[in-house]
Amino acid sequence: MRPHRQIVLHQSIAELLHEPGCPFCRFLKDFQAIHLQGDSAREIRRLCNFHAWGVAAVQDAQAAAEVFLTLVNENGSMADQRADCDVCRKVIEEEDRRIRELITLLGKPEVARWLRTEAVFCIPHAVKVRQKAPLTLTARIDMIIQSYRERLKDELIQLRNDPSPDRTGWGALGRAAEFLVAQRGIRA
Ligand SMILES: [Zn+2]
Ligand SMILES: [Zn+2]
Repeated sequence: MRPHRQIVLHQSIAELLHEPGCPFCRFLKDFQAIHLQGDSAREIRRLCNFHAWGVAAVQDAQAAAEVFLTLVNENGSMADQRADCDVCRKVIEEEDRRIRELITLLGKPEVARWLRTEAVFCIPHAVKVRQKAPLTLTARIDMIIQSYRERLKDELIQLRNDPSPDRTGWGALGRAAEFLVAQRGIRA
């Protein structure tokens, strides 16, 4: 949703496997940005809090004004739960589709090799992949989670000891919150 960042409509999760960071987060960030503007935005009837602010932040002022006109009028409303938000629902469906796509791709030797050697996932997506992956791969995914935890610890210690005024490294706080919420998901 940041201005000046090129938004790409990806066709497959395979396109993002060698990019830095979690491929699902990258895929869904662009997917969500596209659905907050243009023609897709005009179909929005219900929005959660988070996505209402997302619409307000996009660059397409005309489409955003139209979304809010719908919500302000009686034929649209704020969603009570994520499942009721038109954008959340699309993102959740797409996330599920892409996780299943990756599981299918793991049958290819080069993708299996990627998972063994260089894969990175955020915790929520690691948990979701782990739930669907073959048992032979769960140990590897646990290792990915563990190394993420270690990296996050280093980042937090660095931030505590030397918080930079220009907010470099502050992203660790958001990642820590995400990590903890996802951990609850693992235990449940
Ligand atoms: Zn992710
Ligand atoms: Zn939403």
